[in-house]
Amino acid sequence: MCYKTNDLSCEMFKNCPSNYARMRLAIEKKISSKNSSQSFKDDGKSNNFRNCGNKKFSRKQFEDAILDYNMAIRYAKTKEVLSMALANRSACLFHMQLHESCLRDIDMALVEGYPKELAFKLLQRACKCCKALGHKDAYFQAYFNKFKDHLKYIKDGEKVLGNLEKELKEVTLSKNSIDEGFFSDIPSLNNNRNAKFPSLSKSVKVCYTEEYGRYIAAATDLECGELIVVEKPYAKTLLTDCTSSHCDYCLQQSFNLIPCKDCPDVLFCSLECQTNAQTYHKYLCTYLEYLRNAGVDRAGLLAAYLVSRKPLTYFINFKVEYDDKKYNFLPTFSNDSDIDYVYEWNSYQNIFSLKTNEENRSEQDLLDRIKNALIITDVFEKSGYFESQLNNENKSWIGGIILTHLQNFPCNAHSIHEEILTPGSSAISTELAEIGCGIYATLRFLGLYYKQLPLSDNHSLLELLNDLLPI
Ligand SMILES: [Zn+2]
Ligand SMILES: [Zn+2]
Repeated sequence: MCYKTNDLSCEMFKNCPSNYARMRLAIEKKISSKNSSQSFKDDGKSNNFRNCGNKKFSRKQFEDAILDYNMAIRYAKTKEVLSMALANRSACLFHMQLHESCLRDIDMALVEGYPKELAFKLLQRACKCCKALGHKDAYFQAYFNKFKDHLKYIKDGEKVLGNLEKELKEVTLSKNSIDEGFFSDIPSLNNNRNAKFPSLSKSVKVCYTEEYGRYIAAATDLECGELIVVEKPYAKTLLTDCTSSHCDYCLQQSFNLIPCKDCPDVLFCSLECQTNAQTYHKYLCTYLEYLRNAGVDRAGLLAAYLVSRKPLTYFINFKVEYDDKKYNFLPTFSNDSDIDYVYEWNSYQNIFSLKTNEENRSEQDLLDRIKNALIITDVFEKSGYFESQLNNENKSWIGGIILTHLQNFPCNAHSIHEEILTPGSSAISTELAEIGCGIYATLRFLGLYYKQLPLSDNHSLLELLNDLLPI
């Protein structure tokens, strides 16, 4: 007999001893998740978003228009439609006096094949950018010559040339003395690393008591503003709201985002990030919108991102170690000097062993998570993650991994914020904007600690952490 997810009941999973067993049961009974759908590029949608952007542009709402143009860039199927969206974004950037970024968009629009009879407008803009940036003559001249070349495609070329020459005389040097980039200096603990917990400084230690659980305490007097933790996320993902303004790979904001070549779901800040992302994105490409619409929440997406970043063989090897119980999944040290290994940020066992709180969950809650784990596992099957090793055992193991993270991420994942620096703002007065979420190995100890604090202190500690965490 086959079941649909709607036919599932809590009763069926009552005697399953593990997440692996739950998923094995679901998969052996051929329980199918919802029919997954893919989202594809669509020039019609791209044009609609570009038209929305144009309306905002004409109202001088440049930042909002850029978000629409970014959607147009995501959906553009053909090179010409993509080049139109890039060109329109460059106009916003020009008006925002972000001349470096404007030039980058113009270059990309021209490479993508912006229509010849319109290209003079882009080259005009490029010449003005060069002037505003005080670029060397040769740099300016290259665009200016190209501009003159393109005048043959229009009727009143002489007049357009005359106008540009007049306008160029009026261009003043840009006030933006530095590039309009985004900054992401990651602080370093340098020589002040804790030997057993390299993400922590020597000034703190990890302790355990019956009353407070595992927590971090000061080992020495702490200076005000002293760096005590710097940790990379083991896995990270953007909030849906930020997918049109931030890079899917490095989570940085950029004015020059470029699309995935195959789906409308993600953008990247550079060709390098676009290439690097292929290792994991290929298993989620065209399915991200479906996952979100199917009710997979941010913990589920984070789980999908985590699994997609490692090949199946990695998790099969992990299963061997798990079955052998080679690992101590929940370190039981009472003092960090008692442990005989180094607790690394990038060790999967440290992420797998994060507390699931399963004992506190209702049966219905667990059932909902099983359904979502099935939805995600089915996407991995369809996108070719299992390659030639697709069988019930491997599928159940990956499903079990996802189900485990659907339980342990909600209580252990952290929000990722970016600081919004405005002229005159200081480290204390900067605003924080939530852009994504990540899972961190060492922050589990901080999580347990700040649960013990009153709410107001909790809030300030979280903000402190956000300042310290690199994105
Ligand atoms: Zn990037
Ligand atoms: Zn894609």
